[in-house]
Amino acid sequence: MSNEVEQKKNIKTINDLPGISQTVINKLIEAGYSSLETLAVASPQDLSVAAGIPLSTAQKIIKEARDALDIRFKTALEVKKERMNVKKISTGSQALDGLLAGGIETRTMTEFFGEFGSGKTQLCHQLSVNVQLPPEKGGLSGKAVYIDTEGTFRWERIENMAKALGLDIDNVMNNIYYIRAINTDHQIAIVDDLQELVSKDPSIKLIVVDSVTSHFRAEYPGRENLAVRQQKLNKHLHQLTRLAEVYDIAVIITNQVMARPDMFYGDPTVAVGGHTLYHVPGIRIQLKKSRGNRRIARVVDAPHLPEGEVVFALTEEGIRDAEE
Ligand code: ATP
Ligand code: MG
Repeated sequence: MSNEVEQKKNIKTINDLPGISQTVINKLIEAGYSSLETLAVASPQDLSVAAGIPLSTAQKIIKEARDALDIRFKTALEVKKERMNVKKISTGSQALDGLLAGGIETRTMTEFFGEFGSGKTQLCHQLSVNVQLPPEKGGLSGKAVYIDTEGTFRWERIENMAKALGLDIDNVMNNIYYIRAINTDHQIAIVDDLQELVSKDPSIKLIVVDSVTSHFRAEYPGRENLAVRQQKLNKHLHQLTRLAEVYDIAVIITNQVMARPDMFYGDPTVAVGGHTLYHVPGIRIQLKKSRGNRRIARVVDAPHLPEGEVVFALTEEGIRDAEE
């Protein structure tokens, strides 16, 4: 990689813009231009007036922000090469990995949605362990961040899963940063702060938010709050997506949906309060209960994966293929 490219990769927030004084950065933030994205789409004139800086400085800042975000025309071949850099984390089930074309992707947000007991939390545990495996065993030799909003994280499960894979248990537990999110503001603040954590520790390759929606539903109940809730949640999700893209991390979110016995046509499971996550990019996997410990996974509108479904199993050792 050339030095120039290397340098651009290091510009991750507005504070990293080279050759711009702290005073100017403060002016930009005060004027509402607090992210690289807002700068990248600003007009030089507006920026100059709003932040009280010369037009030429504004132009320079906008260019730097666009370069940092890699906003430019690319050839299809470049896009292909970028996609081939995406790494995968195995789920523990070959069938499920097959459905996902190899596993959970970095640079992408993957949503697991399904009713209670469908295996969302088990998958979050398993992937927090599997990300630590070496690449030849389906991992990324990486660490995990686990944001728990429902208090359903169990270290005992991590121990069991690590043991089943013959891994050093304390080591595996040491490589999972756990935090309990108390409410929506806290959940959002945690993700704000993650930027610092992941830039300090590049071995973090997985971020889990289980569940991403529960606090939002509790705090903004009913139709009358839907718009506000949606707006706040979307911002949160975009921030997570950006962490995934910038730091080459796999982000996993879960979303509980309730089975609706009153529905006779179409899919009887719908997201509580509507399809909250429809408009955010990423891969959506629906989980359904089947006989015994079997679960069904189905890909829903992923841009590059064929639609299909597979069966896997929830076992004492973790996520595995279902026995015939
Ligand atoms: P919710 O929406 O309520 O959070 P969920 O989709 O997160 O549900 P999980 O907690 O992932 O559901 O799945 C619970 C299921 O996992 C249990 O019903 C059981 O089948 C399985 N399970 C949990 N622990 C074990 C274990 N130690 N051994 C075997 N199976 C287990
Ligand atoms: Mg759960």
